[in-house]
Amino acid sequence: MDFKKQREEMVKRQLIPRGITDREVLDAFLRIERERFIPDSVREDAYKDFPLPIGEGQTISQPYMVALMTQCLRLTGKEKVLEIGTGSGYQAAILSFLSREVYSIERIFSLAEKVKKLLKQLNYNNVKVFIGNGTLGLQEYAPYDRILVSAGAKDVPPPLVEQLGEGGIMVIPVGSAYSQELIVVEKKDGKVSSKVVERCVFVPLIGQYGWEEKGE
Ligand code: SAM
Repeated sequence: MDFKKQREEMVKRQLIPRGITDREVLDAFLRIERERFIPDSVREDAYKDFPLPIGEGQTISQPYMVALMTQCLRLTGKEKVLEIGTGSGYQAAILSFLSREVYSIERIFSLAEKVKKLLKQLNYNNVKVFIGNGTLGLQEYAPYDRILVSAGAKDVPPPLVEQLGEGGIMVIPVGSAYSQELIVVEKKDGKVSSKVVERCVFVPLIGQYGWEEKGE
């Protein structure tokens, strides 16, 4: 299977025509081997235009959605980034390529442990993965220049707004448990503004400032 060719096709057919124009973002998508972040059982679909299961009832997002969220962050390579919802680690790898350091939180132990090993093996040395409830952010390393939430929230969790630094940008899906709007939140001169950029569907953000886990 020629994954390099599939990467090029993905960028050409799924990303550029939908408005992903940031050259650095496109380069990251050309370089990072998405197939490495995906279970063997679905590896041949690694570059298809939809989300894929990664185990534990969770998903790796569609390439376009990962690209759109990344482009919305307007990264320059100097930022400290917080990601909520490590999942497969693919988004963290993309962020690692485009920023100074990445702190990524995952609530499911087995997923987080798998990603820690994988990122070490692939030498992504500027990403730190934590196990915990990302709706509380990660106070220890705050403030962050950028925050990316890759699970669907009810509302923007207040701790994340607090931990976003001055001049910071956060991208977060907000809505119901089944469909959301992708929102870009900016903090400028202490004031917080937000705008909607796209409709989207993410697995729920679970936790104190998110949804209750089913069966709780
Ligand atoms: N960014 C991921 C990737 O590149 O594969 C995709 C993430 S997946 C759509 C959403 C992830 O968010 C799941 O792995 C889920 O367990 C995690 N999650 C949900 N609520 C969370 C929370 N409160 N804190 C941390 N992770 C959470």
